[in-house]
Amino acid sequence: MVAKQGWRILQDPNSLTGQVLKARYFKCSDFWNANLGSNPSFLWRCLLWGRQVLKNGARWRIGRGDMVQVYKSNWIPRLNTFKPFSIPSFPEDAKVVELIDARNQWKADFILEYFNKEDAAAIMRTPLPRSPKMDEVCWHFDKKGMYTVKSGYKIALRLKYPDIPSTSEDCSCYWKAIWRLELPEKTKIFLWRAAQNMLPTVENLWKKKVTASPLCQICRRSVEIVSHALIECKAAGKIWKQSILTDKGIEVYKGQDMLEVWFQMSKRLCKADLELLGATWWITWNTRNRLLFKGEKINSNVSAAKAQAIVKAYRRVKHVGSSQAANREDKKHHQWTPPLARSFKINVDAATNVEAKTVGLGAIIRDDKGRVVAAAVKPSRLSWDVQFAEAEAVELGLQVAKEAQLTSIIIETDYQEVAGLVNHKKGSKTEI
Ligand SMILES: [Zn+2]
Repeated sequence: MVAKQGWRILQDPNSLTGQVLKARYFKCSDFWNANLGSNPSFLWRCLLWGRQVLKNGARWRIGRGDMVQVYKSNWIPRLNTFKPFSIPSFPEDAKVVELIDARNQWKADFILEYFNKEDAAAIMRTPLPRSPKMDEVCWHFDKKGMYTVKSGYKIALRLKYPDIPSTSEDCSCYWKAIWRLELPEKTKIFLWRAAQNMLPTVENLWKKKVTASPLCQICRRSVEIVSHALIECKAAGKIWKQSILTDKGIEVYKGQDMLEVWFQMSKRLCKADLELLGATWWITWNTRNRLLFKGEKINSNVSAAKAQAIVKAYRRVKHVGSSQAANREDKKHHQWTPPLARSFKINVDAATNVEAKTVGLGAIIRDDKGRVVAAAVKPSRLSWDVQFAEAEAVELGLQVAKEAQLTSIIIETDYQEVAGLVNHKKGSKTEI
């Protein structure tokens, strides 16, 4: 979430990331006014891109007014623009503090004299704190002033389709369709961004003058729009070939707008297949990034297995106790029961692809209220049998718990035998 990351920098400029970026890209200025600079990192490129969204929804909440510029900063709380319309009638870099009197009230006469009626009314409606405090950046579209991904996307949507009112049924319909999928939240946000052409593809970066060419940096054959990265590029094709959705005819959508592709696919596929499609695209995008930025080779088998593991692991978590029709035995396996108070439960699973000899390991840790504390997915080679993979998944779960420094834990797996071996710490003679 690039806009969210940008938001964090605005909120906490002294954070490590904030300071590193400041030292490198905006030594003498601030995040709002920073330029791309020479040899920018990928993160920085993305942040500047997310800043567009922030610029349309973030504004200053006036405290003392000494950090906010009257004409250049976003600060007037109203919908169409946060800046004054009035033609500047005093120095352009004047600060808002000059409009506030010693009693911490707006200088009404002064404001009426120097601003047009509309601006003056809006300025004087702007709340001032009872006692002077620091100016703060807030998110206009949230009551508490905090940036939310959802409202960020409403803004993003408005930027892309300025004619569609943000409350339009059409938009919320797309949003809801994606939101209904049983996939991890970050995967759904990814899909939403993909459908809105909001991924930092080479084409998008090129449009923002971040890269010199819009060509895909993997195949260099065509412009990297979202559907190229997720469907058309050879990297995506390799993964798609290994997917169990491979015969669903995605190829016809090469070169199309992702919103259209998503719309068409959601008419053709059942919900379960759509979920796998979403997970596959997400993994494809991540695989592309790892190839481009870390030079990691593509292992299409592993990628396809990972996508399956995501769907399977999530479904297991979600479907806990929901199916009354399931028989008792099935229920015993699928009904998730919370651990004791103040302890954590790890559920692990392995999705195997015997043909491709790969396996996707998944682990999810929840607390006694069922809230997800940590989760991880990891690809692996399939050894001689499925049981070994399940054991590897247990190992992954324990690793995650260790990293999260959780002590009081219960681990749950499909295989009683594996659980037995984990509990029985010594004296095991199996490979596991
Ligand atoms: Zn390509």
